[in-house]
Parts: sequence; structure tokens; C-alpha cells
Amino acid sequence: MYVEHALGTGQSVPLSQAQAHYLFGVMRQAIGAQVSVFNGQDGEWAATVSEAGKRKGTLLCQEQTKPQQMPPDIWLMFAPIKKARTDFIVEKATEMGARRIVPVMTEFTNAGRVQQARLQAHAIEAAEQCGGTFVPEVTEAVKFRRLLDSWEAPRSIMFCDEARVGVSSSVPTVLAAPTAVLIGPEGGFSDTERKRLEGFAPAHAVSLGPRILRADTAAVAALALWQASLGDWT
Ligand code: SAM
Repeated sequence: MYVEHALGTGQSVPLSQAQAHYLFGVMRQAIGAQVSVFNGQDGEWAATVSEAGKRKGTLLCQEQTKPQQMPPDIWLMFAPIKKARTDFIVEKATEMGARRIVPVMTEFTNAGRVQQARLQAHAIEAAEQCGGTFVPEVTEAVKFRRLLDSWEAPRSIMFCDEARVGVSSSVPTVLAAPTAVLIGPEGGFSDTERKRLEGFAPAHAVSLGPRILRADTAAVAALALWQASLGDWT
């Protein structure tokens, strides 16, 4: 369970109403039950339920059971698509070890308003499911032009360019962390965006193989390619 609270031996951790409902209402846990908690900084801790109520409760931290594991410094920047598949991208990016997730509004992005809090909740749920100790920040959506205008060196961009379909896929070492994967929308990148990226020093165009992938598949494929070449799968 993800908690927004410091963790340490003897530390008591108040539960939110939703967490109390989940632990005591849904999971039928009671006082003395063992719970694993993490907060994204202090690793995973074994805790016991010290207070249990309908709408509140408290956990008492015992000992650290897993050290904090930070993923490599790689962001996933992607153009939002239909809601359910955007949720999928956020969940998979969390499992694949993205450090930050940035929704990018490009010319052909065809999606409703991006609800940052909802997507952040999906990232938390994905981290809890996969037993991770880190939760990536999902930022507010940013416009493509502003993203590049405010780009900060030395971070590079792994520009997944569908126009390079069929070119052999390799990740140049210049894309070592800190870096960011960039995935376009269903309609792909516009010519203006491609020209801007081709002339943008931190950006390096990469192919994701001989077939055009759906944006959600491309996000996972790009992170897997990077993790296996330069990330924490090596
Ligand atoms: N409408 C575009 C077309 O038909 O060419 C396809 C866009 S694709 C559905 C969405 C995004 O996934 C692309 O903008 C790109 O970032 C990425 N992508 C998909 N297949 C790729 C490939 N073979 N190589 C590089 N990037 C790819």
C-alpha cells in the first residue's frame, strides 16, 4: 500500500478514509494485521494495523523489508489517446520503470482533457500491483512547443519516429540517462513537429521496428528497448 507519509521504525502512519475502507471494509483486515507499505522514498516497510475504524485507522511501522529502488532517469512523454488506453500507457510506463510521465499535446492529439490526478492514481495503483517502491510523477499535460522551448540539458530525447519504420532499431549511447522517450498520437507527428525535432540537438530519432505500432504498444516497446539497451535490464 502506497502512503504519503514518512516511514521508519516505530513510525505511526494515519490511513486515509479510502485506505481504511479498502483495508478494513474490502480486505476485512483488523488490528494486528500485517501490511506492506511504501512511500516512494524510504523503501518498503512491514507495518501492523494498530487502529482500525470504518473511516480511519493507523499503521505502526516495524522494519524495512525492501530498500528504495529508484528507476533509471528516463521519462515517458506521450500524446494522450483514448482514455482507457491512456490509463494503460501510464500503468505500463510505471511497471517499465519510467521516472516521470509527461502527457504531451501535439498537433494531431485527439483526446479529451487530461485528468492529472486520475492518471497519478493509476500510477500509484500500478506501483502497488507490481510491488515497486517508486511511483513516477504524472505531470499536467504540456503543449509540444512549450515542452521543447523549455527543454533542459543534458536530458536527451528518444524521438520514436514512425517515419523511420523499417529502419533497424537501435538505441545510440547518446540516449543514456537522463533521457526521455517521446511517443506521438494515433495520427503521428505532423511535418512541422518532425522538422522541429530533426533540428533539435537533444532529440535522436529511433525506429521501433518494421511495423507501425499503436501508440500504447509503442510506449511499452520503446521503454523495453531502452531498458534492455541502456537501462536497468542490462
Ligand atoms: N498515424 C501514424 C502512421 O500511420 O504512420 C502512426 C502513429 S503511431 C500509431 C503512434 C506513435 O507510435 C508514433 O507517433 C511513434 O511515436 C510511435 N511508433 C509507432 N510505430 C513506430 C515505429 N515502427 N517506429 C518508430 N515509432 C513508432
